[in-house]
Amino acid sequence: MSKPLVNRLCVIGVGLIGGSLARALRNAGQVGEIVGAGRSRTHLETARALGVIDRFETDLGAAVQGVDLVVIAVPLGAMQAVFETIAPRLAPDTVLTDVGSAKGSVVAAAVTAFGELPGTLVPGHPIAGTEKSGEEASFAELFQHRRVILTPHASVSSAALEKVRAMWAAAGAQVVETSVEHHDQVLAATSHLPHMLAYALVDTLARMDDSREIFDYAAGGFRDFTRIASSDPQMWHDICVANRTALLEVLERFTDDLGQLTEAIRCGDSDYLRETFTRAKQERDQFCDTGDV
Ligand code: NAP
Repeated sequence: MSKPLVNRLCVIGVGLIGGSLARALRNAGQVGEIVGAGRSRTHLETARALGVIDRFETDLGAAVQGVDLVVIAVPLGAMQAVFETIAPRLAPDTVLTDVGSAKGSVVAAAVTAFGELPGTLVPGHPIAGTEKSGEEASFAELFQHRRVILTPHASVSSAALEKVRAMWAAAGAQVVETSVEHHDQVLAATSHLPHMLAYALVDTLARMDDSREIFDYAAGGFRDFTRIASSDPQMWHDICVANRTALLEVLERFTDDLGQLTEAIRCGDSDYLRETFTRAKQERDQFCDTGDV
């Protein structure tokens, strides 16, 4: 049998993303041993019972000993503390990557913890997920045919980059690369803004006097549009804080456009309404035809 890509893998944060990656690599036969790490022994015991990991540590420093690849899959707000805990215990050739939904804050946290960006660190973000959280929500197929964005820095080692690329390819993903800044701007528009809209819509309706009746009458469209408002509130709090600048920019632009739409409805500007809806329908139909949703 050929040697697996990763001899010993450490996943810090065995939740939806970390657990799914562990499962995918195991199914692909590309990992020897998987060490899980996190705060809660109960979660880690469940992950082990489900076969997601082989063993676990709640001491993150101990978890990274003797491993060749570490994947950090904790909420963005916990990244810096994790980097600081593992920094003194990492072997110089251990490859390090993360899955955080914003990249500028992860890079800044790494610089604070390590003093500079380690050549072994390859920041990454899988464009895949569900509104569920935790090890029990993880599944091996999550990354199949999904994109993973890597944002390698100038001093990254080519061996580390190659290893992380190969890891995601083994999990079924298509790997692309871009800069940290571009990643954060694009994701603010395509992912972070839609989550803000879904949360805000559900919250506004829930606070109306007749909210129960509103939800009783809600149909499939409401369910589709608001599915992502069931996502983990702490995770989305962390994303707002981490990607504040890019998110504010796109939120302000959207607020202006919504203001114009409101005005068009007030004035009965049918041309504006028809043009806006037609343009949006064409864009979405085209996007769906490319098979991206
Ligand atoms: P999740 O299911 O809640 O898993 C997070 C894991 O991190 C849990 O296993 C949790 O376990 C552990 N954890 C939390 N705080 C920790 C800490 N301070 N130290 C150590 N471990 C800690 O979340 P997820 O959806 O997988 O998200 C994980 C990361 O992936 C986030 O950075 C998120 O931005 C990114 N991401 C998420 C999605 C998505 O759609 N969900 C998509 C792409 C990227 P314990 O509570 O037991 O410690």
